[in-house]
Amino acid sequence: MELNERAELDTSQANDLGRGSGGSGGGFGIPIPGGGGRGGIIGIVVAVLVALLGGGFGLNAMTNGDEGGQAGGTDLEQLCSTANPERLDDARCRNLLYVNSIQDYWKKAYPELGRSDYEVTTTNFFQAAVNTGCGQADSGVGPFYCPADRKVYIDLSFYDELASRFGAKGEFAQPYVLAHEYGHHVQNLLGTNAKAGQGDQSGPRSASVRLELQADCYAGAWARHATESKDKTGQQPLFKSITEADISQAIDAAEAIGDDSIQERSGGRVNPDQFTHGTSEQRKRWFNQGYDRGDPKTCDTFGTDQL
Ligand SMILES: [Zn+2]
Repeated sequence: MELNERAELDTSQANDLGRGSGGSGGGFGIPIPGGGGRGGIIGIVVAVLVALLGGGFGLNAMTNGDEGGQAGGTDLEQLCSTANPERLDDARCRNLLYVNSIQDYWKKAYPELGRSDYEVTTTNFFQAAVNTGCGQADSGVGPFYCPADRKVYIDLSFYDELASRFGAKGEFAQPYVLAHEYGHHVQNLLGTNAKAGQGDQSGPRSASVRLELQADCYAGAWARHATESKDKTGQQPLFKSITEADISQAIDAAEAIGDDSIQERSGGRVNPDQFTHGTSEQRKRWFNQGYDRGDPKTCDTFGTDQL
């Protein structure tokens, strides 16, 4: 993958909130799953199981407390401007570029799903803890989308976790994670998310698994078209190139965070009744479906028996 040094990034699509406080602050505690079914947050991995893998990544959950604030965020407009020659060495600017690309794709692809204009939303970078429209979260829940405020939240240190604990080391795992979360945003706009909230929230054929696999498929559809995405001016491509090796990194990441793999890694037996995101094989296959077809209409995980 080569990013375009000349691309003008749209800094209105991300905020750096800095460090939050008021949660468990990244310490250890009793994990409580993101509450309220689909009324709550929608992450990329099962928070509780991530926590069970042990180690220093804080585990916690959503509470509805609003104590604590954010501090120390950086102005991305300055940091990620073309005036800063080192900007693309900074993970925040690189992730902003990915967000710009994913949303430029959806501006074009969303109307193809038969809906009116796509609604651009922001990604909030945070550290440790954050207050959201879905309650308070800390980093232990992993990256997530909050349907209530329609924003994506990510502590960028999750990528270190993805590399060390899940073995998904490639840089292209990062845009895959973001594209998955934006897939949930699209589902929210389409009403898929609300409908899925009325179905089963765990089990191999549950609404939750279907929703997550569709988000993986949407991520694949973006990846197919990513090199076509343009910067803020509409003149410059955001990516100079994306290779098959990059795509493999996204597939490796999807595979690494399958429910069965996570259950195995956490030392437990594989229990399909607790699946919420799909198996490694399914996550990989649905990402590939999106990538191979390049069309989100082919991501109908709700209407198929071949899940
Ligand atoms: Zn998800």
